Amino acid sequence: MGALTYDFDDETAIVTGGASGIGREVATRFGEAGATVIVADVREEPKREGESTPTHERIEDAGGRATFVETDVTDPDDVAAVVEAAREFGGVDVMVNNAAIYRHGSVLETDLETFDRLLEINVQGVLAGTRAAARDMLARDEPGTVVNTASISSEYAQLGHSMYDSSKGAVMMLTRVAALELAPYDVRVNAVAPGIVKTAFGAEGPDRSRDEGLILEDADVPDPLEREGEIGTDIPMGRMAESEDIAGPYLFLASDDAEYMTGHLLYVDGGYSIL
Ligand code: NAD
Repeated sequence: MGALTYDFDDETAIVTGGASGIGREVATRFGEAGATVIVADVREEPKREGESTPTHERIEDAGGRATFVETDVTDPDDVAAVVEAAREFGGVDVMVNNAAIYRHGSVLETDLETFDRLLEINVQGVLAGTRAAARDMLARDEPGTVVNTASISSEYAQLGHSMYDSSKGAVMMLTRVAALELAPYDVRVNAVAPGIVKTAFGAEGPDRSRDEGLILEDADVPDPLEREGEIGTDIPMGRMAESEDIAGPYLFLASDDAEYMTGHLLYVDGGYSIL
């Protein structure tokens, strides 16, 4: 059994949050499959220790085509600019709305300003990206696909996740509503829902949240990277995911093999959502 190969030659994919973690692997897989990739992120360098080559350079080093456009998904001008940048390569065919942040805090501790900022990135950013890409596809009369990053948190509540889980629940519904509204235009909208993935994402949440006074100094907040063995035992497949485990399903959902799928939430979670 080998990995599926996809052909995205002549297609352009935008990946928000493509500098690090899951987005970095998704962007790389699209690049390997022949797409021109636009990495849209607030930062160019990957966040995880030991990784230094920016995603677009990594794709180019492997013989692919890619570029980096500094983008804050909460700024509509930035989002318009990145979609405009795709025009240079024929226009956006695949929009991956993946950028998000994590902040820890129970309902009792949550600070509304932090919640606002989190929603702006995790939810408004997805709407802005979907809207800009879909408008551009319709204007060019070239329907494409949107793949959002949801989460097991879209449907499963965890302690201390009041802000994050509610944002990912919203991403799930946004995916469904956008799928419904854009189906008449042949634009498909789906979401991948990863389980627990080894990225810098979960690890930075507790520290940042502590700095922002959202959690008590001595609160026992799980750091997924440190608690790998322990967390793995909750996952039927017995381990946390690597970002590479999550990337393939994005290509599947964007491919013609998924041409009758829209509004779908695809769990890639080692069986976590069965429990
Ligand atoms: P990550 O922190 O490694 O990557 C997130 C990227 O988003 C970073 O490169 C960051 O710079 C970028 N970003 C943050 N704010 C941005 C903004 N305003 N505009 C543009 N880019 C911005 O994290 P990750 O684990 O790869 O997370 C990627 C996605 O996967 C997120 O949507 C996250 O919610 C989701 N997810 C992660 C996990 C996990 O366990 N790591 C599980 C389920 C879902």
